Amino acid sequence: MSNSPVWHPFTQHALEPAMKRIVRTEGACLVDEDGARILDAISSWWVITHGHRHPAIMEAIRRASETYDQIIFAEYTHEPAEELAKGLIEVAPGGLEHVFYSDSGSTAVEVALKMALGYFHNTGRPRSRICVLEHGYHGDTIGTMSAGERGVFNTAYEPLLFAVDRLPFPGPGREQHTLDAFDSLCASGEVAALLVEALVLGAGGMKVYPAATLAELKRIAERHGTLLIADEVMTGWGRTGTRFAYEQAGIAPDILCTSKGLTGGALPLAATLSTAPIFDAHLSRDRRRTFFHSSSYTANPIACAAALANLDIWKTEPVADRIAALASRQRQNLKRFEADPRFRDIRQSGTIAALDLNVPTQGYLSDIGPRLRAFFRNRKLLIRPLGNVIYLMPPYCVTEADLDRAYDAIDEAASAFAMGQP
Ligand code: PMP
Repeated sequence: MSNSPVWHPFTQHALEPAMKRIVRTEGACLVDEDGARILDAISSWWVITHGHRHPAIMEAIRRASETYDQIIFAEYTHEPAEELAKGLIEVAPGGLEHVFYSDSGSTAVEVALKMALGYFHNTGRPRSRICVLEHGYHGDTIGTMSAGERGVFNTAYEPLLFAVDRLPFPGPGREQHTLDAFDSLCASGEVAALLVEALVLGAGGMKVYPAATLAELKRIAERHGTLLIADEVMTGWGRTGTRFAYEQAGIAPDILCTSKGLTGGALPLAATLSTAPIFDAHLSRDRRRTFFHSSSYTANPIACAAALANLDIWKTEPVADRIAALASRQRQNLKRFEADPRFRDIRQSGTIAALDLNVPTQGYLSDIGPRLRAFFRNRKLLIRPLGNVIYLMPPYCVTEADLDRAYDAIDEAASAFAMGQP
């Protein structure tokens, strides 16, 4: 127990050891107060894409901070936000034409839900049901918790959470079951939107489903006039192999939520992109149809400048090659654990790799998570398993040697903790 007044997120202070103090970040590593380099194998909660303190992003932040701080974003605008919106529309394929800024993944999703309901409300055919996937995670606000999987994360808040329709997860062999369930739900004509993480469900256990299923979900939604909201807060900016995961499905969502890697992870910023009909439904001489949402830090100019630098890095540096190389190294490393009885399942989507450790107790609250974390921490690795699910999602600049070292530690951890030794 420490006597710091800081209350950390997702931390049981009665059980957690004192926090490790980080004094510097560098590439794929955090440097602690003892000068030890810790491999950031989860990109500091999935935000850092190109590596910590990418020089172009830091330079953009320095320069923007000479001219701007926060600027009110109603009545007034500024160049970084204008340029970024154009840039985002250029790189997000499909009919996305409008960009609404906020400051976190949760707010990006809250905005998306409000846009969807606003669209139906303002066009005079109100719909309010929201459909989601089982095991989903969309944030920790009341709205996003309502849409996420119910469980230990939100038991205390349950009385305030609103009801949503949940589709069974489209796991292997279960895809049609999910699609049929969605089709019959939509037949009610009441479903405003399907909100899904695209291709990988993150906090729900790094669960992967096929791009073809996402494409089918979109087709069904379209047939019933239901909107598709793609939550790409985690999957965006290359994690699954393409800039946005939905590109692999050959479809476009009606609303896209992005944050985390939007600034390369350096500063908080989020954007919710929408199609023209959704924007137009809020366009009226009747002020009641205004989109009533704002965060104080909407479109922070310095964060927008960081995001512009990120867009530029995607244009000028071989980001796609780095992503492909990382994905390939993950694949090679995962191969060593194929048919290994110490693991129940191993899977990958682009740069994200996940391994379910074969342990008797599962679930987020089981001891295995904290025990694994301590095991990896002792080996200078930042890896935070979700219960028994060990995953690696490092920045794209990680070296092969560092990545291989993480897998060596996973191998050791499996020998120490898993059932079914080979
Ligand atoms: N959606 C998804 C898919 C996420 O993974 C997260 C965060 N892990 C969020 C939303 C919420 O983002 P934030 O923590 O920035 O509010």
